[in-house]
Amino acid sequence: MSLKVVKFGGSSLADAQHFRQVAEIIKSDPDRRYVVPSAPGKRFSDDTKVTDLFYTLFELVRSRASSDVIDAHYEKIKERYNSIISELGLNFDLSGEYEYIKNAILHNSGRDFAASRGEYLNGLILAKYIGFDFIDAENVIYFRENGTFDEDKTNDILSLELKEHKYAVIPGFYGIAPNGTIVTFSRGGSDITGSIVARAAEADLYENWTDVSGFLMADPRIISKPQPIDTITYRELRELSYMGATVLHEDAIFPVRYAGIPINIRNTNRPEDKGTMIVSQASSYDSEHVITGVAGKKGFSVITIEKDMMNSEIGFGRKVLECLEDNDISFEHLPSGIDTMSVVVSTAQFEAHKERVLQAITRRTKPDSISIEDGLALVAVVGRGMVKAKGTAARVFSAISNAGVNIRMIDQGSCELNIIVGVEEHDFNTALNAIYNEFVK
Ligand code: ASP
Repeated sequence: MSLKVVKFGGSSLADAQHFRQVAEIIKSDPDRRYVVPSAPGKRFSDDTKVTDLFYTLFELVRSRASSDVIDAHYEKIKERYNSIISELGLNFDLSGEYEYIKNAILHNSGRDFAASRGEYLNGLILAKYIGFDFIDAENVIYFRENGTFDEDKTNDILSLELKEHKYAVIPGFYGIAPNGTIVTFSRGGSDITGSIVARAAEADLYENWTDVSGFLMADPRIISKPQPIDTITYRELRELSYMGATVLHEDAIFPVRYAGIPINIRNTNRPEDKGTMIVSQASSYDSEHVITGVAGKKGFSVITIEKDMMNSEIGFGRKVLECLEDNDISFEHLPSGIDTMSVVVSTAQFEAHKERVLQAITRRTKPDSISIEDGLALVAVVGRGMVKAKGTAARVFSAISNAGVNIRMIDQGSCELNIIVGVEEHDFNTALNAIYNEFVK
């Protein structure tokens, strides 16, 4: 028998109907033994997530809103849970919990405590509904005094605790600090809890159930009906998520990656779809395509520095990068020529420090010229299949130029997992479409 840890996102637990679907998914496979729920998410597009309702509740208390205003707002939260309970026909009364939580928030239990109650209450209801044990995350997920996650302590205690329960629900998103206060991960952090539980349970698979059938090869807002990705490696995923493809919280990858546990992204509304499998190693041939995905981002600036004989001036690059470091700016890419060096930075980060950085570079490196160009978009073509396929770069570049787009920058990592191309922002969609059509259609 294998063991699966299953995490359900907020949209998968937004109302009673979704609870039913979730219960069916869990019950259809006895290997699905540990369940990590998020708080109820949006039921329709301008609905509010329960987590956000809790953040607002906290703000109302902090800003000393009248008790009528606070109570009216709290009613909305209770109503979300009460309607789930009643529509499921559960005999379950949370009024004691509601009272306790309200008092705790009124008595300075903190913002994270307030936010965490979204998952806590949802976990109680789900455990009751499916008949699983409830393990409060505050007894098994630990943070250090400085607020960082304590993986070793958590893994030791959580793995022992899980052995005591054949089937259990562990709410996502929060844990406890050494001083007894509740701490949450960053937004979307139930993904991280799921991954931590999978590691501690030594699971064979971490299923992450959401409202999409896995990752798509490209952003559907830019490419019409992109194909789904069957299998992606952790490293490819990292490249694509850096470029803005988000389905999974980035930090959710680390606990399972080191334990070698694959993640399967699945769709609660379409359980028949296989979804995307995220693995540490995959053969480059199991994909039909040379590329796994294509993604990109706008909003970059290029600083170009020219100086005769730059190539023989030892320490030139270091001085340039120190000028950025001193201003807390990280660089994204560093394409360089013999006597030129370009640094690609995020415009949003760079903007406020522009003058100081330019002055510092001029003072320290005495260049012949220095210029800045804004409006650069980066496109990343990602694929483990590229290592074996000859001519991939040529295909990328000719597809882009056949579409009439000028390439402003090229960067190919030596790992041959990606090729990054810089184009003008107004050419961004055209470039992405050209690449996608070249490799996929
Ligand atoms: N409920 C939290 C949030 O909305 C955590 C999560 O859903 O993963 O960010």
